[in-house]
Amino acid sequence: MADLTRTIQQKAEFHFDYMVQTRRYLHKNPEISFKEHDTTDYILHELKKLGIDTYRPLDTGCVGIIEGGKKSDRVIALRADIDALSMEEEGEAKAEFVSEREGAAHCCGHDAHTANLLGTAQILSEMQDEIEGKILLIFQPAEETLPGGGRLLTESGFLQEKGVQSIYGLHTNPDYAPGQIAVKSGPLMARPDEFEITIKGVGGHAATPHLTVDPIVLMGQVISQFQTIVSRSIDPTEPAVVTIGRVRGGTTYNVIPAKAEMIGTVRTFSEKNAYLVRDRMEQILKGITEPAGGGYEFAFNEGYPAVINDEELTQKLMSAARSVLGSDGVIELKKPIMAGEDFAFYQQEFPGAFFFLGSGSEEADSKWSWHHPRYNVDEKCMLTGSALMAGLVMGE
Ligand SMILES: [Zn+2]
Ligand SMILES: [Zn+2]
Repeated sequence: MADLTRTIQQKAEFHFDYMVQTRRYLHKNPEISFKEHDTTDYILHELKKLGIDTYRPLDTGCVGIIEGGKKSDRVIALRADIDALSMEEEGEAKAEFVSEREGAAHCCGHDAHTANLLGTAQILSEMQDEIEGKILLIFQPAEETLPGGGRLLTESGFLQEKGVQSIYGLHTNPDYAPGQIAVKSGPLMARPDEFEITIKGVGGHAATPHLTVDPIVLMGQVISQFQTIVSRSIDPTEPAVVTIGRVRGGTTYNVIPAKAEMIGTVRTFSEKNAYLVRDRMEQILKGITEPAGGGYEFAFNEGYPAVINDEELTQKLMSAARSVLGSDGVIELKKPIMAGEDFAFYQQEFPGAFFFLGSGSEEADSKWSWHHPRYNVDEKCMLTGSALMAGLVMGE
């Protein structure tokens, strides 16, 4: 086992320059969700150079399949996401490979996720004879945009057809250093849903409120009552958030408007709690607006499910990580985070484990948060990430 780990680490070091060049090329040439055509061609070209069979179950993105030399029905999938964000980037640390495409930038690290998995492909293709069963390398499009590439790929049936038994994925994380990973079993990332509400009243003169149904007053009551959903209706041991992100109503001093609007997000870790929040919201809306002679429109738009890590796979991941990184490199998180990830769709079908790959450092100016214009990764994270992904499939 120690020998195998050392071999994998040496290979990761050998391919490190390749990963850096690949990451910088992708960084310069970002493509937003569902438009990753050149990125897909690039990845296909790289996989074909290694003699890996390639498939395109969706319009963009692709899957490479490595057939191991040891016969087995074991099928493990490793997933990277490949899309960039619709934004402009900043930062001197990235000056040499700044985005050359207007309105698109890799400010969530998916360039590094892609280069890292191509590095893993290099390592694994050199060890093909020793691999048991099949390895799927998933280069997934559109993590950033609903309905999510993870959902479309899962629903396409391609992974089921290939007999996938388990899946692993990672995300770069500025809160941890290269050489570290952070993970936990069970709930890791939240289910993000969105809502849009219109409260309907009867407009009129501000001086004759008795002749109107004031939607602003109704909205005030709705906002206050929404604060009781998490505090009074959700099990206090389960995390949940209801945030109203925008309220809008009225035009001027002396007019009572006919309607008022608000939008926001709900974060939970289960369908049960998401639907409980949704139903409580609707009861409150109905209970406040209807007796007052008003009305409402309510849309609850379902986002991604929560990322819930499989216990057994998380243990495997942590033990593989300890042998690649040493025990200091493995941080076991105590609490989940309230951001979302479309990796959750795979976990609806297959046992899966998702982890954070430390990528923050002062030298690389890479401690900025996800989606910040200066978001960057310390490229050394790919030494860890590629070796760990390879170790996961070789080490079982
Ligand atoms: Zn993102
Ligand atoms: Zn991301």
